[in-house]
Amino acid sequence: MSDLFDTIVSLSKQRGFIFQSSEIYGGQAATYDYGPLGVELKRNVKALWWQEMVYGHGDIVGLDAAIMMHPKTWEASGHTEAFNDPLIDDKASNHRYRADELIEDHIRDLRQDGEMEQAEAVYERLVAALNSDDMAGDLYDIIQDEEIRAPRSGAFDWTPVRQFNLMFETHVGPVAETGDRIFLRPETAQGIFVNFHNVREPARQHVPFGIAQIGKAFRNEIVARQFVFRMREFEQMEMQYFVKPGEQLDFFAEWREKRMAWHKRLGVRPSKLRFHEHEQLSHYADAAEDIQYEYPIGWKEVEGIHSRTDYDLKRHQEYSGKNMTYYDPFDQEKYIPYVVETSVGLDRTVLMLLCDAYDEDEADGDERTVLRFHPEVAPIRAAIFPLSKKKGLPDIAHEIEDDLRPHFNVMYDERGSMGKRYRRMDEAGTPFCITVDFETLDDQQVTVRDRDSMEQDRIAIDQLTAYINDHSTGWSRDDV
Ligand code: ATP
Repeated sequence: MSDLFDTIVSLSKQRGFIFQSSEIYGGQAATYDYGPLGVELKRNVKALWWQEMVYGHGDIVGLDAAIMMHPKTWEASGHTEAFNDPLIDDKASNHRYRADELIEDHIRDLRQDGEMEQAEAVYERLVAALNSDDMAGDLYDIIQDEEIRAPRSGAFDWTPVRQFNLMFETHVGPVAETGDRIFLRPETAQGIFVNFHNVREPARQHVPFGIAQIGKAFRNEIVARQFVFRMREFEQMEMQYFVKPGEQLDFFAEWREKRMAWHKRLGVRPSKLRFHEHEQLSHYADAAEDIQYEYPIGWKEVEGIHSRTDYDLKRHQEYSGKNMTYYDPFDQEKYIPYVVETSVGLDRTVLMLLCDAYDEDEADGDERTVLRFHPEVAPIRAAIFPLSKKKGLPDIAHEIEDDLRPHFNVMYDERGSMGKRYRRMDEAGTPFCITVDFETLDDQQVTVRDRDSMEQDRIAIDQLTAYINDHSTGWSRDDV
């Protein structure tokens, strides 16, 4: 893993953004807990997504479906049969890898070495293998023919490629043997499909319209060593947009643009974002693209946008025996709607924001670490410092804190030198630091220090809320 990635993992732990689950027991692999700063960052992202998708569109409504669903759901969705990863073990180190990712990394290396023709040939074989009936065998053959070595040990001693189902299984009822087998949902989308009529009718929506949901999903990821990029328990923010058959590709194009705009709206540098077309379309999709971010571990998917045809509703109709057709009162016809899905990982978004915000520069002759979050995602919007504990400055600072609390998450801090207090807030990504000094006693003004430029403005206390609001919405980064 890259140095920057390691730095972000350790900063996350030290500053209370994100740490390993159940750490005192040695940790639970690929599951993470969000501390005080992390949970605020996560809540801000969720709120901005909901704001954009639900409040920003009159034709999208929300849903919060249960994690445990009827087991037939997963037969209908195809997950019981085909939610598999092709995995291969390095016999020398007993390390497990995803076969398709090993080949992708090999292609990347070939391109970097200027071996363009060979890279293209391997790429074509990979695409063919991913679409083949014998995916495992074909992926294995590529690894053998290309003599791809295990990244960690350097060995060339592989087991065959095998498929592993990623769903977590448990039982309901008092006795495991007699209870019904159920699964923890591996995606939130199916909760939306099975509730198509339950949501549409009371919400009085007509096609085209969307249903949005934020919730936990679970996947028994075998190769899970990339911090919150690949977890076994994670959160998704998904929206399924139901459209008339034939119109799906226009809506797909529209949502693709809208979703990219949202990532930029979070303050992410545009040069670090790109679209990536799928090498292999799922059997149910007629278009699919990812939005990728350039993480320190490479360009990786943060969001998927998929045109899923009528596959899901049709399958639920077949498996449940319930009619999933929609009567279109405008065109006076009946059909099963097509679906355009936008599916973004909340944890991968948080990780993207941490990576994108991380910066080091100099302040007062010292090195500082600073997280340049967009003010609207920053865990703490403003910090309030009394310059001294004398002459009632802390009382004024507390009054300011009370005034700002209904509007923003703010923090009061009177401990340590001003330099130390600034450094702590820079590391938390707090965009505004407000200092109450002795002049405040005469002029009712305070100093507001900008995290990025470190410049200071003198602002009247009663103008602080407006100042923070203006400087938050108008924020942009210099180094795009
Ligand atoms: P990948 O190919 O990286 O495994 P995927 O294509 O299986 O991802 P989707 O099924 O499209 O992912 O899920 C939608 C989104 O959910 C992804 O874009 C990602 O942000 C998030 N996601 C999926 N799996 C995980 C995971 N194990 N940990 C964290 N986030 C995840």
